[in-house]
Amino acid sequence: YDDRDGTIWLDGELVDWRAANVHILTHGLHYASSVFEGERAYGGKIFESVKHSERLHFSGEQLDMPIPYSVDEIEKAKYDVLKTNGWDDAYVRVIAWRGSGEDMGVSSKRNPVRMAVAAWEWGSYYGDAKMQGAKLDISKWKRPSPETIPSHAKAAGLYMICTMSKHEAEARGCSDALMMDYRGYVAEATGANVFFVKDGEVHTPLPDCFLNGITRQTVIGMLEDRQIKVHERHIMPEELDSFEQCWLTGTAAEVTPVAQIGEHMFEVGELCRDMTESYDKLVRS
Ligand code: PMP
Repeated sequence: YDDRDGTIWLDGELVDWRAANVHILTHGLHYASSVFEGERAYGGKIFESVKHSERLHFSGEQLDMPIPYSVDEIEKAKYDVLKTNGWDDAYVRVIAWRGSGEDMGVSSKRNPVRMAVAAWEWGSYYGDAKMQGAKLDISKWKRPSPETIPSHAKAAGLYMICTMSKHEAEARGCSDALMMDYRGYVAEATGANVFFVKDGEVHTPLPDCFLNGITRQTVIGMLEDRQIKVHERHIMPEELDSFEQCWLTGTAAEVTPVAQIGEHMFEVGELCRDMTESYDKLVRS
C-alpha cells in the first residue's frame, strides 16, 4: 500500500503518497498509542462522516490523547483527500497517534499527537461471493473487559487479538472469526458487529465491551422502521444453533450475510437480503 501514486493528508498538509512516512521511534508503533476511523464514501459523500470524526475525538480522549484538529478540520481533510485523488467511491482511513519526540518510554505526554487521512478503493470486504454468505471460525481469543482496555474506543491496541483471530480463521479456510467476550457471551467479528434472526425477530449482542458500530446503529434503525423487534442482549454460544439467519455489519463489511459459524449453518434469508440491499441503497441515497 505504500508504493503508489496519490496524495495523503499528513499533519495539516497534503503530501505525496510515498512521502507520508513516520520515524521508527514513533510512540504509537511501540506502545499502540493510536486511534483510527474507517469510513466509506459513496458517490463523493462519506456516510455518517461527522459521527466518525466525533468517534475519533472520543477515542483520543479515552487514550488521554486529545486530537489536535477539530471535527470541522477533520471533515475538510477527508474531503480534500477524496478530491485530490479524484475518488467518489473510496474507503477513508483517519488515524491519530503519538509521534516521536522527547519521550521514548511508556509516558509520552511531550510527544506530539499527529494525524493522517488516507483513502483508497476497497471493494467488498469479504469478496465477490458476498450474497452466498461468509464462513466464520470461532476464535479462541476473548474480547477483554472494559476494566482491562477502553473497549469503546477504536484504538489500535484492541486489534492485536483481531488480527491473530483472523489469521487463524483464514488458515482454516474461513473469511473471519466470531469472538466471544471475557464472560463467554457472543461479542462480534474481528472488524464487524453481528446480528441473528429467529422467528421474525432480531437478536444482537449488547455492546457493553466492544464497539457499538455506526453501521450497527444504522441497521437497528432500519429494523425499527420496519417494526421488527430487536433484542440487544447477552447471547450464549449455545444459542447459535437456534438462529435461522445471521449477518455482519461494519463500515468496510457493510451488511454481509453469514452462512456458517463453526458448525452452525444459517440461511441467507429474506430479512438478511433485505438488510444487505437496503443498506446499499441508503448509503448511496
Ligand atoms: N467492531 C470492530 C472491532 C470494528 O473494527 C468495526 C469497524 N469499525 C466495527 C465493529 C463496526 O463499526 P462501524 O460500523 O462503526 O464501522
